[in-house]
Amino acid sequence: MSGLARELWRLPAVSLAPSAIEILTAELRQRLRLVTGAHAGVRFASSMAAEDMVLVDAIATSGVPIEIFTIDTGRLHEETVRMVEVTERHYGILIGRAAAPEQEVRAFVENHGLNGFYESEDAKKACCHARKVVPLNLALAGAGAWITGQRREQAVTRTELGLAEHDEARGIAKYNPLFDWSQDAVWSYLQHRNVPLHPLHRQGYPSIGCEPCTRAIRADEDLRAGRWWWLRQESKECGLHLNAAQ
Ligand code: SF4
Repeated sequence: MSGLARELWRLPAVSLAPSAIEILTAELRQRLRLVTGAHAGVRFASSMAAEDMVLVDAIATSGVPIEIFTIDTGRLHEETVRMVEVTERHYGILIGRAAAPEQEVRAFVENHGLNGFYESEDAKKACCHARKVVPLNLALAGAGAWITGQRREQAVTRTELGLAEHDEARGIAKYNPLFDWSQDAVWSYLQHRNVPLHPLHRQGYPSIGCEPCTRAIRADEDLRAGRWWWLRQESKECGLHLNAAQ
């Protein structure tokens, strides 16, 4: 293994010209207006990581009526909790907190132990269900549509992603306005528009989830290698984006 490969992942170099970013920005805003024109009660669950910060910036600076919230799993990095506050101050907005219900979390801990998600794929699914899926479902109750920061390039599980889909489990529309964005587009946008950056991105984390289930990655690893690193690639979804009954 070369010395370069052993290095931690770093913020990607950016190459898009300001004019190209302006075009992308206009197109993104148009996509968001398309969603809010078609649905009342559009909501966005933000992890505060790079792609989601592109969307936070686009929503906050364009004034489209999309409610932003974050899922408080109770196992987030302290940096993520602070990032929510930093973002609220930066844009002068309020970000909702969808907390995992106590009884769901207690049931998981009683059955599997606090960190039981390391023991099996089923236990990991159960924890994500209690701490992520249930609060997401509650936060999306009554929504007309929700949007996500997913991109095709991010994972083998996302190569078929499109702009619009139907979230069958929740019975609402779902949009992925960044579905065709490249990594370069995301980071060029963030840099060009001085968007607040989650501090863990500067510590080798391209993708950020719960603290016990996310690690920094090396420069030569898959971008989602640091998420649930003990599982197979195909298992690296937390249930938020699965269309099966949760
Ligand atoms: S990412 Fe880990 S700690 Fe967070 S909900 Fe899923 S299994 Fe639990």
